[in-house]
Amino acid sequence: MSDSLLRISVRQGEKVFSQGDIADCAYIVERGRIGVLVERDGAEIQIAERGPGDLFGEMAIIDGMPRSASIVALEDCMLLKFTSSQLAHRIETADPVVRLLLDVILTRFRDTLSGLSKPQAETLGVGNISDRRDGRFADDHRIEAVAQMRLERELDVGIKNHEFELKYQPIVELRNGEVAGFEALIRWRHRERGLVPPMVFIPAAEASGLIVPLSAWCLRQACRGLHEFRRKLPADRKLFVSVNLSGIDLQRPDFFADYKRILAETGVNPGDIKLEVTEGVLMKDTNQVIETLKACRDLGSTIALDDFGTGFSSMSYLSMFPIDTLKIDRSFVQALHTDRASHNIVNAIIALGWGLDIPTVAEGIESVADADALLAIGCAYGQGYYFSKPISEQDAVAYLQAARPFAQQLPKVG
Ligand code: C2E
Ligand code: CA
Ligand code: CA
Repeated sequence: MSDSLLRISVRQGEKVFSQGDIADCAYIVERGRIGVLVERDGAEIQIAERGPGDLFGEMAIIDGMPRSASIVALEDCMLLKFTSSQLAHRIETADPVVRLLLDVILTRFRDTLSGLSKPQAETLGVGNISDRRDGRFADDHRIEAVAQMRLERELDVGIKNHEFELKYQPIVELRNGEVAGFEALIRWRHRERGLVPPMVFIPAAEASGLIVPLSAWCLRQACRGLHEFRRKLPADRKLFVSVNLSGIDLQRPDFFADYKRILAETGVNPGDIKLEVTEGVLMKDTNQVIETLKACRDLGSTIALDDFGTGFSSMSYLSMFPIDTLKIDRSFVQALHTDRASHNIVNAIIALGWGLDIPTVAEGIESVADADALLAIGCAYGQGYYFSKPISEQDAVAYLQAARPFAQQLPKVG
């Protein structure tokens, strides 16, 4: 990806950038030292030195005036580079790393900036700096920001090195245990860190834009998985695979074209793919998201609203967006027997589903008692460790082929 975080190495004496390039990128020093040079009376003089963990690329403020500077490697250096479009994307998504970087910049220049007149400060876009946090805070956050950037770089490498795999978790019909479909869940098998859970790397992938190739990989892989499952089943047997999408995917005008291409290349019927989105996704850039979801649905795919009940759960989403399935968040399911409010919420969501003719899937079913209770209150589908943890493609095929694997333990109907 042209936009991804870059790791570059610079040899001693090499210019990282010259005056004038500065607006286009920002760097963090990973290893080595760099010098900040300015031109004075026709000659370049070094005004500062930066080491590991330091950010540069910001405007140098010299003699109270913003001036651009040249950056030169004082030793062999390793740098992490942000492009301006990446920064713009991060600012748009209110990325914490950007806020931290701005904090670092502002903290470093606090003394100089506090000497600026108000109009000067406003020109620099740093209007009110009197309440900036102290240097220690910025230091802690600088370490955090560098850690996150490192994670993003590793993600980029991980995508290129095929370090990801998909697991499949069955979604079953509660009344008879039949497998209705599988949810595809991504895993990162990192060479040093071991298995990294999606909750750790998906936010970093979203912040860096790497979610786009990652989602495309998931879709393609899920289509391939579906192909394998279908080969083992009679042609008229219904089965879907659902894929989780991020808001960033659905806000891309190109998403639909990419989606169609993946379906065509893998020969999968669009009707066998379910796209899972959360309420948070629907709240952003609504028009593009609606357009994309509608186009996918017109093609025959279905849409599931994931983690229902945890967001704003506005009823208007259900009429504004093309939703085919409601997935009840596992936090409610898991408190079903201990918390009256959770029980009532689950009840209300299922009733809402019936009212709108939208089937419900209960997530996080861990016991026969959960399955029993959910079936009794009218939930049609379930997913959870009680049926199966997320499993490999091969195990999913075996799971499908096993005749009613949970027949003996199934909840009682009626
Ligand atoms: P999710 O979409 O709500 O996925 C369900 C999560 O609940 C999965 O965690 C699954 O392993 C876990 N789970 C299922 N049944 C049970 C149960 O009975 N008990 C408990 N305690 N947990 C259960 P996982 O795989 O770690 O995924 C976490 C989240 O990461 C997902 O939540 C989803 O938001 C995100 N994610 C996973 N794969 C992808 C992906 O391919 N793309 C995107 N954008 N997000 C993904
Ligand atoms: Ca999901
Ligand atoms: Ca969920």
